[in-house]
Amino acid sequence: MATVEQLPQAHNGVVHSGEEIAVENPATGQTIGTVPDLGAEAVADMARRGRAAQPAWEAYGFEGRARVLLRAQKWVMDNAERIVETIVSETGKTYEDASLAEIGYAGNAFGFWAKHAPEYLADERVRSSQLLVKGKRILLRYSPLGLIGVIGPWNYPLTNSVGDCIPALAAGNSVILKPSEITPLTSLLIAEGLRECGLPEDVFQVATGRGQTGAALIEEVDMIMFTGSTKTGRKVAQAAAARLIPASLELGGKDPMIVLSDADLERAANFATYYSMQNAGQTCISIERAYVEAPVYDEFVAKVSDKVRALRVGAPRGFGSVEVGAITFPPQLDTIEAHVADAIDKGARVLVGGHAVQSAGDGARGGEGAEGGRFYEPTVLVDVDHTMKCMTEETFGPTLPIMKVADAEEAVRLANDSPYGLGASVFSRDTARGESIARRIEAGAANVNDALINIMVLELPMGGAKASGLGSRHGAGGIRKYCSQQAIVVTPKLALKKEPFMYPYRQRNSRMLAGLFKLLYGRGKRD
Ligand code: NDP
Repeated sequence: MATVEQLPQAHNGVVHSGEEIAVENPATGQTIGTVPDLGAEAVADMARRGRAAQPAWEAYGFEGRARVLLRAQKWVMDNAERIVETIVSETGKTYEDASLAEIGYAGNAFGFWAKHAPEYLADERVRSSQLLVKGKRILLRYSPLGLIGVIGPWNYPLTNSVGDCIPALAAGNSVILKPSEITPLTSLLIAEGLRECGLPEDVFQVATGRGQTGAALIEEVDMIMFTGSTKTGRKVAQAAAARLIPASLELGGKDPMIVLSDADLERAANFATYYSMQNAGQTCISIERAYVEAPVYDEFVAKVSDKVRALRVGAPRGFGSVEVGAITFPPQLDTIEAHVADAIDKGARVLVGGHAVQSAGDGARGGEGAEGGRFYEPTVLVDVDHTMKCMTEETFGPTLPIMKVADAEEAVRLANDSPYGLGASVFSRDTARGESIARRIEAGAANVNDALINIMVLELPMGGAKASGLGSRHGAGGIRKYCSQQAIVVTPKLALKKEPFMYPYRQRNSRMLAGLFKLLYGRGKRD
């Protein structure tokens, strides 16, 4: 594990009031660094500097910006070990969770946006059937909004905070990132890396601080990209509305999995286990609840229980040391415990796990050195229903409630009985049937015989339905949202001195025009 001295401590030269936030390693309880708690004045100063730096960055053009982003891609891979250590230290997640879902994502994303920004933001030639613009050149153009604010959560400090900055930068904006106060060190490390890669000063800045720093950021920027809870997302949307700036919101979820009786049960059980426990269940798009058709319910539950029982939980000590790491955010442990207690109170049975683990001494299974760390046993719950919080509210922990359903119809109804709609998965050997069920689930993404793999497809939009968000990341929309659209219409130099509809109004001309409209638009039938 990284020593305190090896972790990024420096801040990017911002003057601040002197308040510091201690950053803790959730797997050990050790304080691993401090960062400034920046107030509104410091954020305003950063915004001034970001705005001043932006035009020159825009002037780099796609090629110039891509060069810097591709250098950053290489930097991430060259420094992967250091970045993983930093992520593990501030989140308590396993080395595999940091490597696969964070380094793997960022490595891909830097290259993806460097390559695709010119294509997604190229001028679009538009053809119009409108008679009045015949012979004119019509274009849709995208130009960077200017200064983008990105506010991130603690569960993926690289993927969900820095990740959203990459397309904003590729489009030619300056960016200020406000990472979660719990996990700010990864963002600071990446800022250091981007400087090394030649990103001009002040184009990417990190505003460390608490919620108030995030609120101050919204007051300064031209657009806000937020990832976090639905509760805070609403506040962000309100603050953005008051300023009339666009907001893109990636919020909470309660992703359902549906297992049909013809599913490959071994595959379904492996996916249920992995995607409910991966990152200790602290992933927005995941498997948070399972609905299994009655004929295969017992077998599925037995398989999942065996697999979950075999998982080791504890402080990560390198690759291969544990499968389930720490609970990153202290209050999250209370939520997980409350959801499990509520389920038990209402008649659920715990087949595996069901307890918090505060140290290796009181039950961490197989993992070493959980001294002072915060963990929760990988947990399987059955006999659950929708009166229980574990089935309706976001638990965000290593728990999997499994519910027996009579048939696919009941599964779809229950899957949609949720305020959220982030992701979903359906398992069936009949892929056509699986797809038709997937299409009926109210979610931003639905995978058949897989789960949340859509997040790795950067060509596809990723966003939530219902209370899971507004807007999306990835795909063309994932970079165009950081731009303003401008419509351009160019009339060639050889044009009439005036158009026939202009002054003075004459009866003959006006009648002719009215007749023309009838000819053009009035030939259809009235049913
Ligand atoms: P929060 O909503 O608590 O915080 C998110 C960020 O917003 C943090 O940086 C936080 O700062 C900041 N913040 C808090 N209050 C304000 C405010 N009034 N104005 C502006 N910013 C503010 O979320 P968590 O960090 O707890 O993240 C977990 C949540 O994120 C889960 O619900 C999860 O589902 C969701 N999520 C969604 C994803 C998606 O893509 N849809 C991906 C990952 C997570 P501070 O931490 O300092 O309080």
